[in-house]
Amino acid sequence: MEDCLFCKISKGEIPSTKVYEDDDFYAFKDIAPVAPVHVLVIPKKHIANIASLTPDDADVAGKMLYTIQKVAQILGIDKDGYRVVFNTGEKAGQTVHHMHAHILGGKEMAWPGV
Ligand code: AMP
Ligand code: ZN
Repeated sequence: MEDCLFCKISKGEIPSTKVYEDDDFYAFKDIAPVAPVHVLVIPKKHIANIASLTPDDADVAGKMLYTIQKVAQILGIDKDGYRVVFNTGEKAGQTVHHMHAHILGGKEMAWPGV
């Protein structure tokens, strides 16, 4: 999608620190980390957020969870544990309207954190 920051990042049109890439997904370091490990996983297909998924997106949505698992392994946080956050819509504070999973790790985290 034109004028979408994360579409541009996934195409390499805007620089990012890549952690993982395959045909359907791109993972990169968050520019303003809130944990020692903070990586974003995005589908290359432009989908605004979970709220706008359609049945046609079921395959990419399922593969995204599996990609998150793989990226956590690459980051070396899979054994200790990590948190996955999908901010969805205004009240959740979503600022980039291209679906993304925050993978957060490298520290003890409190719950609930809302
Ligand atoms: P959200 O608030 O859930 O929409 O998350 C958007 C995230 O994108 C924030 O954590 C930002 O720090 C991050 N972000 C924004 N611009 C960039 C960028 N150019 N490269 C990497 N991360 C970014
Ligand atoms: Zn996009």
